[in-house]
Amino acid sequence: MVVKEEKKDKDVKEEDCKPAVFIPVDRLPEIQEARLKLPILAEEQMIMEAVREKECVVLCGETGSGKTTQVPQFLYEAGYTSSGGIIGVTEPRRVAAISMSHRVATEMNLPSGVVSYQIRYEGNVTENTKIKFMTDGVLLKEIQKDFLLQKYSVIIIDEAHERSVYTDILIGLLSRIVPLRNKKGLPMKLVIMSATLRVEDFTENKRLFRTPPPVIKVEARQFAVTVHFNKRTPMDDYTGEAFRKICKIHRMLPPGGILVFLTGQAEVHSLCRRLRKAFPYRPNREHTDSMETEEDLKKSKRAKKKKIVSLPRINLDNYSALPVDEGDEDRQAGIDEEYNEGSDLELDLGDHPDTDHEEKADPSIPLYVLPLYSLLAPELQAKVFRPAPAGARVCVVATNVAETSLTIPGIKYVVDCGRVKKRFYDRVTGVSSFKVNWISQASANQRAGRAGRTEPGHCYRLYSSAVFGDFSLFSEAEITRRPVDDLVLQMKDLNIEKVVNFPFPTPPSSEALIAAEHLLISLGALEQPPRYGRLDEIERARLSCPITPLGRAMAAFPVAPRYAKMLALGRQQGCMPYIITIVAAMTVREIFEDYDRPAGSEEESTKMAGKKARCIQMRRLWAGQEQSLQLGDLMVLLGAVGACEFAGCTHQFCEENGLRYKAMLEIRRLRGQLTNAVNAVCSEAGVYMDKKMAPPTESQVVCLRQIVLAGLGDHIARQVQAEELLNPKWRNGYKTPLLDDPVFIHPSSALHKTLPEFVVYQEIMETTKMYMRGVCAIQAEWIPKLLPQYCHFSVPEESPAPWYCPLSDRVKCHQQSTFYRVSWKLPAIEM
Ligand code: ADP
Ligand code: MG
Repeated sequence: MVVKEEKKDKDVKEEDCKPAVFIPVDRLPEIQEARLKLPILAEEQMIMEAVREKECVVLCGETGSGKTTQVPQFLYEAGYTSSGGIIGVTEPRRVAAISMSHRVATEMNLPSGVVSYQIRYEGNVTENTKIKFMTDGVLLKEIQKDFLLQKYSVIIIDEAHERSVYTDILIGLLSRIVPLRNKKGLPMKLVIMSATLRVEDFTENKRLFRTPPPVIKVEARQFAVTVHFNKRTPMDDYTGEAFRKICKIHRMLPPGGILVFLTGQAEVHSLCRRLRKAFPYRPNREHTDSMETEEDLKKSKRAKKKKIVSLPRINLDNYSALPVDEGDEDRQAGIDEEYNEGSDLELDLGDHPDTDHEEKADPSIPLYVLPLYSLLAPELQAKVFRPAPAGARVCVVATNVAETSLTIPGIKYVVDCGRVKKRFYDRVTGVSSFKVNWISQASANQRAGRAGRTEPGHCYRLYSSAVFGDFSLFSEAEITRRPVDDLVLQMKDLNIEKVVNFPFPTPPSSEALIAAEHLLISLGALEQPPRYGRLDEIERARLSCPITPLGRAMAAFPVAPRYAKMLALGRQQGCMPYIITIVAAMTVREIFEDYDRPAGSEEESTKMAGKKARCIQMRRLWAGQEQSLQLGDLMVLLGAVGACEFAGCTHQFCEENGLRYKAMLEIRRLRGQLTNAVNAVCSEAGVYMDKKMAPPTESQVVCLRQIVLAGLGDHIARQVQAEELLNPKWRNGYKTPLLDDPVFIHPSSALHKTLPEFVVYQEIMETTKMYMRGVCAIQAEWIPKLLPQYCHFSVPEESPAPWYCPLSDRVKCHQQSTFYRVSWKLPAIEM
């Protein structure tokens, strides 16, 4: 009986979803030959049958089995685009979205206008686009505009095993959108692709899919990989250990590529440098092209640019509402992991004076060393796919981008340091830090698997088997590790009021959700829940607060809620262009070169010291005097951007003044994007982007400080008072509402010498001490005016003294005959 019903149901669906026509693809013979070797080709029929019969299909297959490149082609050939729908593929990383769209276009012999990509700032989507690769953040924004995603016939969620926040949310949303579409007679398919077999979070989750979607496993042709553990585990110098291991492999073992996993950009460059010194590679003419440095690349780009008569203008409006900051797809996946490693590519890719004497190595065998990390220019990344120069052994030094997103051909040896750099966020204190941590066993095995793609391989783990045994089995979903205020705001804007009830594949903790709602309420983005009534009712109401008009405006800005609030307030006194610039610069994170990183040689170290001194001098200049100095680090950002744009934003200016050129370009793009977003939200604002901007006037600076305070109201710190000063640990320290320990103004901050009594900060980073980043001085009397929601108001008689609540120190400020008590754990003050 049941079977019959199911069959009937199936017939109807088949009728609806049956692709109309088979679309032939004219592939080049060599491409076709290579495709046929991919394990996924053997499963094409099974995959397509499952897709035809079911709304959602989960596909698991080893990295390199052909999921990303082939599944969109299967669907295209089967006619899923024939009635006008697009096949959408989401990737958690920009790198993958761009490179995979190029690869699929090449394989299908179709122009980029048909197989296109869309990432935060750029894309080549046209009216003819049939297959669209995009970052997951881009699709999320499209859902906001059209909940039913009507232009798509299929959505493929790629790299679902990475469990990036947006991927998780997309799966939750699509679990509702797909059935809705089918009910409305607009059939749509969902394919979830994962490189690991751990997919229970999607399939066994009853809140997500009532009937578990079928799981198709693609058996990859995986050759045996022999795993070698180190006897001892180096605790610090794993880069040195990796270097020694590579030297040994290169000198003693048969031909075959080497892939090394390190944790960040700086490590990658330092190892590349050591290897190039140990095995100098002298390219012959044929290969000079593949040895080009970033400078060459720029030259050739410049040359190419000259030939182009007119470039198509990008309409920034289309990009106006994409998520950035914590939510920016790249930061989430790439920059975060490699953040603050700001090393200059040219330092490493250019010539190196052979100054130090590394371990003796046989330089007669060429070693072709290539770095790979997500911030590397795509043109340089693409080199890993090209064949190595004849006779040379390729050695790719990578961060964990090489773990699953990209498959590098010809790798026989993997050297795994066993670590990964991740951003850690303390939910209670709000302190972020980048920590290098052990990977999971699943990651370690994934890395080892990279060695056995074309023939049996070897994986050298730079840690002992006992340490491996202590690794967690799988990596945690990102959503459980980061604040979710931006997500909650986006979801409220999608009219999902009860975020707690959302079918997350892995739900964030209720504390994180509550913290997010509290922040959004205090920013005015959500309606205040009732203050009186039964406790459980209040608590329930708290978790389903509807969005306010201000919240909707904030959600339209592609930045985290705190910054969105600043933009929403920025119209006063002509401050908008400055606020846009400050927000853009704050979200780009590290705009200054890092001259404290370890230098490769003495000469380099002297050079860096000189540059650092110049950089400090410039920062002091940009910070200005008196009133503008009060804006602190944000004034430095403003000054740096203004000065750089005034000089035409050249590479040379950045180089001379310690600015990261790429960061400055990104700020410029973000300013354009935010200016458009502001104009779209409040059409009467009419903000126009003057790149160079005159410096703000004194009264504008005061206004800017207040706007910054309104956005960062939960990030106030106050200089410690006399009694704590007796304890040396509190010297020059600041107290924050949530931390028991002092936080400090970093020596590189504009306010390091001034030490204002009250400051707001962008975030706290824990390095040697807990340092506030992005510090701006504020005045205490602004707090009750601008942030009444953070204050308890009472008349003097009612609350005579701070000992009213002995557990928390309270700020007491006296104004217009009323006492305000601010309920932070701050030392009491009388005003
Ligand atoms: P999966 O998504 O299952 O990890 P892919 O579809 O990304 O696998 O890759 C399939 C094959 O295509 C791999 O063997 C890889 O080496 C090859 N490939 C992918 N991108 C490129 C490229 N840009 N150039 C050459 N080969 C590529
Ligand atoms: Mg893939």
